[in-house]
Amino acid sequence: MKNVKNNKQKQINDIVSVVKISILLLIGIILFQNFINNNLTVWVPEMYYTVICLFIPLMVSVLIYLIWIFSTKYRFNKRYVDIINKIEIAVFIIVFSIIIFICGVNESQYKFLYLFIIITTTIQYGMKQGIIVSCISSLIILAMDIFMEPNVIVNTYFENDLILAGVFILTAWPLGFYVKIEAEHIKKLEELINIDGLTELYNHRYFCDSLAEKVKNGDRNSKPVSMIFIDIDYFKQYNDTHGHQKGDYVLRKIGEIIKSNIGEEDIAARYGGEEFSIILPGVNEEEAIQVAENLRKKIECTRFYGEESQPKGKVTVSIGVSVYPYKARNDIELIKSADDALYRAKFFNKNRVEAYTSILDEIKKNIDEKDIELVASIKTLISVINAKDRYTYGHVERVVVYSRMIADKLKLSKREKEILIYGAYMHDIGKININKEVLMKKMRLTDEEWELLKQHPANGVEIIKSVDSLKDIIPLIISHHERYDGNGYPNKLKGKEIPYLARILTVVDSFDAMTSNRPYNTRKTYEEAAEELEKCSGTQFDPEISAAFIEIVRKNDGEAFIEGVSDIGEIHI
Ligand code: GH3
Ligand code: MG
Ligand code: MG
Repeated sequence: MKNVKNNKQKQINDIVSVVKISILLLIGIILFQNFINNNLTVWVPEMYYTVICLFIPLMVSVLIYLIWIFSTKYRFNKRYVDIINKIEIAVFIIVFSIIIFICGVNESQYKFLYLFIIITTTIQYGMKQGIIVSCISSLIILAMDIFMEPNVIVNTYFENDLILAGVFILTAWPLGFYVKIEAEHIKKLEELINIDGLTELYNHRYFCDSLAEKVKNGDRNSKPVSMIFIDIDYFKQYNDTHGHQKGDYVLRKIGEIIKSNIGEEDIAARYGGEEFSIILPGVNEEEAIQVAENLRKKIECTRFYGEESQPKGKVTVSIGVSVYPYKARNDIELIKSADDALYRAKFFNKNRVEAYTSILDEIKKNIDEKDIELVASIKTLISVINAKDRYTYGHVERVVVYSRMIADKLKLSKREKEILIYGAYMHDIGKININKEVLMKKMRLTDEEWELLKQHPANGVEIIKSVDSLKDIIPLIISHHERYDGNGYPNKLKGKEIPYLARILTVVDSFDAMTSNRPYNTRKTYEEAAEELEKCSGTQFDPEISAAFIEIVRKNDGEAFIEGVSDIGEIHI
């Protein structure tokens, strides 16, 4: 819509500029005509130079004006453009007044020239400016009449020009009114196009347009731009239990809560079905988290119809927060990072606010300067995998968390723990080459697909091997699918041949595969998964490591396990 509007304004400006140039040419003709009438009865060659002397400056000024309007005007910022516009109008009024003065002052037949500038000003800048220009023009011609014939009783020129002044004003007024009505009409249409009908917040389209603009402004003013992503928890269940109408009521009510709890500058939108987003220009991360936490609490405390049937007995939301430029390099990354933070909030039991944090930022602190760029590319790869397969996102998160826990239990050194966590973070990076259909496939994989999937440890190594600082992670990535009994892949390593940290990673990775919803099987409870670890101890898993992890699992059961996990911070993508 903004584009359409800008385009319209540009077209108006262009046509008005063409009119103004034509007027300048018209003035040339008037001057020429006047010159011939006054000076020539017979054409003599000497006059030729005089005509040239008169026309060359005029043509040069037309040319300068042409270049001026088509190049400079669009590049200045709004304040300067306003001043330039006013100067331009004043120059036209002065030029017309000079023409009238040259061509007979009060007797001049060119007083109508003012109509051009009255009409163009009204079309371009509205009724107020148009009426001001028409009043100034009227005053000038009436003043000329009085000035030229001060002592006459009946000044016919003055009487006639009073009518002309009326014409000036009556041109500006209705034309200006029309321009105003049209502007209001466009504004209404704009609202219809940009506002979400159900929640009356802005819609997705407007949100995207504004975000790019706000990020640009943030850059210009060196101010941060924060983003909040909100998703209603278990909303499908609410709809299924109470129907879509009641669901719509919840959406509307949450829209109202959001609207009444954000700043005037902030832009709140319905991002998608039951997802909301807020842009907070000039707001830093801490303040944004406060706004988000306040919204979360307000929504949690609001009473909604039938909320008792929700899993937590309440309608709640999960919220992700990120900030430009500290957590994202552009508007797209800002959306992505806030979305990632939101998924983290979902993963950690919902009804909570999570800020975007990146394990890669943590890794960056520990690697050589020269590898930073490469690590940034790895981050992009991981984002691509996440986009392909939402399950991988939570999976990586959980495996990192479990790795931290088992590292403490097994009393790993600081460096070993670091390598295990980075390995956990990157272990599936080789899946980048595998297409979404295979990753998400519900049925058994074909032999071909299985072969492809089995290549992901080697592909992962290919990706990170050029990063010197990550070379210690390679054994984990290549061996995280080896089995203790030697029946794993890709190298069929056996027992202690498999690097120790890779054996640990295998246990936590498999535990998460058992306990999360995968496309191809249903999730096990934590106890069921612990039993499975026990069963496969010595065949698939290192017995000591699996025993240590089973102990951790049994100490923390069910939700409490994940709640406990959630307290460990700074682990995320
Ligand atoms: P989670 O806690 O993980 O966010 O689970 P969820 O059920 O909220 O998320 P999911 O994405 O599975 O479901 C979103 C639901 O939002 C699906 C649909 O019933 C509901 N929804 C989307 N748009 C509308 C809408 O315009 N009106 C209503 N009433 N419901 C909507
Ligand atoms: Mg959703
Ligand atoms: Mg939801």
